[in-house]
Amino acid sequence: MSQMVTLIPGDGIGPGITAATVRVLEAAGARVQWDTRLAGVAAVEEHHTPIPDGTIASIRETRIALKGPLTTPVGVGFRSINVTLRREFDLYANVRPAKTLMPGGRYEGIDLVLIRENTEGLYVGVEHYIGMGDDPKAAAESVMIITRYGAERIVRYAFEYALANGRRKVTLAHKANILKYTQGLFLDVGRRIAQEYADRVAFEDRIIDATAMQLVLDPYQFDVLVMENMFGDILSDEMAGLVGGLGMAPGGNIGKDAAIFEPVHGSAPDLAGKGVANPTAMLLAGCMMLEHIDQAEAAARVRIAIEATLLARDSLTPDLGGKSGTDTYADAIISRIERA
Ligand code: NAD
Repeated sequence: MSQMVTLIPGDGIGPGITAATVRVLEAAGARVQWDTRLAGVAAVEEHHTPIPDGTIASIRETRIALKGPLTTPVGVGFRSINVTLRREFDLYANVRPAKTLMPGGRYEGIDLVLIRENTEGLYVGVEHYIGMGDDPKAAAESVMIITRYGAERIVRYAFEYALANGRRKVTLAHKANILKYTQGLFLDVGRRIAQEYADRVAFEDRIIDATAMQLVLDPYQFDVLVMENMFGDILSDEMAGLVGGLGMAPGGNIGKDAAIFEPVHGSAPDLAGKGVANPTAMLLAGCMMLEHIDQAEAAARVRIAIEATLLARDSLTPDLGGKSGTDTYADAIISRIERA
């Protein structure tokens, strides 16, 4: 039976990489019916809102979405739609795998997964200016919120993910030496949950700055990493850098009742409309989505064809050192799927 999926092509390079992704997933036999919806700048132009009710209603019904990148104006204009969607559907787990797909980079054979808490921490956006004298912006203050509930469910998610995916170790990264209450609570909860899994998955906790350095010095010592929101935001980009950059990095935003999969990169306005964007991150997000809806065979066909195409190096996009466009690269993947 085919599964209904909300498809949000997004802004900038989004429509181009989304069209390529749909072609590849369908060629691999994905049993999916797309409900295409707008969000972002495209939605503002048509519906005068960055996140139309129809898009939210569609995700509420399908409970699953594949989303292209969305443009968020810096400092002014509307709030990040990505943050809004995470809140609306309580997508508390941001799952970001970093796996080497193309040999010849700085590291070979990287295979890590970062599980980032997606709803709490400093990103709750509780902040304000404090005026002093005639300076209304003499200081600014942000509140970091960590709850026992939020910490428990993300650490448990990390352990369950490790078990379900045959992973050996969970590393919890924190800054409890300085932030004794917020980070301390996250660490306490983590250590307690880890005991429940003690005979099945190894556990260690590390200070975040040392973890960032160790990721560069010896990434192979890690396996699954779990941390609060902002640390996860930063370290997951660092991890994408270990495997060739944001163009290769997918992510899943997962909650109890819905999940949204997306490439980690943005809308790349410098490449919009040129047909040269690399669709790999979007394709891998599509694979994560297929695995989530129990269509792992189709996802495996796509993953194998992507790896073979990257290895052959004959139809790569410019960011990977090639001269091909998005569609030529996608065609090369499709022809490998068809020949398999
Ligand atoms: P970006 O990721 O769009 O681009 C950074 C650099 O990487 C650019 O040089 C771009 O050309 C390149 N790049 C990105 N994706 C690529 C791809 N698939 N193929 C080839 N090259 C690629 O980051 P930015 O320029 O800082 O942000 C642009 C817009 O995207 C902003 O409005 C930002 O808020 C938004 N954004 C959205 C998301 C999301 O929707 N999840 C994530 C990050 C940024």
